[in-house]
Amino acid sequence: MALLVLKFGGTSVGDVDKIRNVAAHVKREVDAGHACAVVVSAMAGQTNTLVGFVEEAWRSTLAKQGENGAVDYDAREYDAVVSSGEQVTSGLLAIVLQAHGVRARSWQGWQIPMITDGAHRSARIKGVNVEGLKARIMDGEVAVVAGFQGLAPDNRISTLGRGGSDTSAIALAAALNADRCDIYTDVDGVYTTDPRVVPKAHRLDRISYEEMLEMASQGAKVLQTRSVELAMQKGVRVLVRSSFDPPDLAGRTGPGAVLGTLVCHEDEIVEQNVVSGIAYARDEAKVTLLKIADKPGVAAQVFCPLAEANINVDMIVQNVSEDGRYTDLTFTVQSADFDRALEVLKRAKDSIGYFDLRGSTDIAKVSAIGVGMRSHAGVAAQMFSALAEKGINIEAISTSEIKISVLIDAAYAELAVRTLHSLFGLDGR
Ligand code: ASP
Ligand code: MG
Repeated sequence: MALLVLKFGGTSVGDVDKIRNVAAHVKREVDAGHACAVVVSAMAGQTNTLVGFVEEAWRSTLAKQGENGAVDYDAREYDAVVSSGEQVTSGLLAIVLQAHGVRARSWQGWQIPMITDGAHRSARIKGVNVEGLKARIMDGEVAVVAGFQGLAPDNRISTLGRGGSDTSAIALAAALNADRCDIYTDVDGVYTTDPRVVPKAHRLDRISYEEMLEMASQGAKVLQTRSVELAMQKGVRVLVRSSFDPPDLAGRTGPGAVLGTLVCHEDEIVEQNVVSGIAYARDEAKVTLLKIADKPGVAAQVFCPLAEANINVDMIVQNVSEDGRYTDLTFTVQSADFDRALEVLKRAKDSIGYFDLRGSTDIAKVSAIGVGMRSHAGVAAQMFSALAEKGINIEAISTSEIKISVLIDAAYAELAVRTLHSLFGLDGR
């Protein structure tokens, strides 16, 4: 007998019919003798609808009073509304399981409780009090847990940020000391890159936590970045698989029956490529400050006001100045923060003292990721040469031990992804 946490995303619980399919997956594991906790998301699109209601309730009401709503709405009430999507699916799945003769009970975040900090709207899990829940799971009752939500110190519902059910599932798996956390989604695993861009992309049987973390934060959308961090920290083995595989087939075990991608410690991966995947993101924007003084303290003058405005900066390039007096500075921010970043910098113009300010959202970031880079020299050189051969200009570069990212013109994003995918031997296997 194993203790499993199964997590089903929004498309997997999109309607009652799909919830019946989820129940079939759960029943298969129960029939195999496993103890199960199931974490569910809201039905696909439901969270967006709820967020829309909150926006409307606040802005339209203010507008009717002739105010502009510069202040945001109360995050506690946002959480109260937006967490309700998961309440619905957890109850529905418990009902369908019961109809199949499976003992099941739904649990809201506050009932467990899943304890979070007080950062409403993007709370972090502090601990999960699993004693009561675990006793019942071990006794054969399926716990159906509403993902995405927890209990804040002010005794109110909190939510974990968009995509947060992944994190709920991993946190629960860690607290229960589960054998595995199965993340069921609408794709059958983690791919070497986006199959819509590169049809030759293939599913990875295994990927290390570190690579998955880079893939998630560099634009691959399978798992919430925070959930991967948590899995790595707590050593939770995560299997990403599709809920649309037939429930009986998905239960097959044994050699050759790997369905999905196992996210695990790199020691568990025998056959390691230098590069495991190519990620890309189009949601960054580039900002360039022309002719700033090349002297101590200027970078701080630029980045402190941005930090104060809660704007995250990703890549940074500062050129060498020819005359030792002036230089240019380029960096990227999330597209959503682009306008605000420009505003902040315009306001700080006098203290920074730049000549001109430029920006563009027509850029893409393409990254090659692989733990094999640690022990292989020349990966960057290969990558830059291949891009040059295709006439793709690199505007900025950033690296970590296991990742090289380049910033390029958005028009070349797909060509760059395809080029790097074949360069590193990831095509058609
Ligand atoms: N329903 C929430 C969202 O759409 C949480 C999740 O699905 O992970 O962001
Ligand atoms: Mg998700």
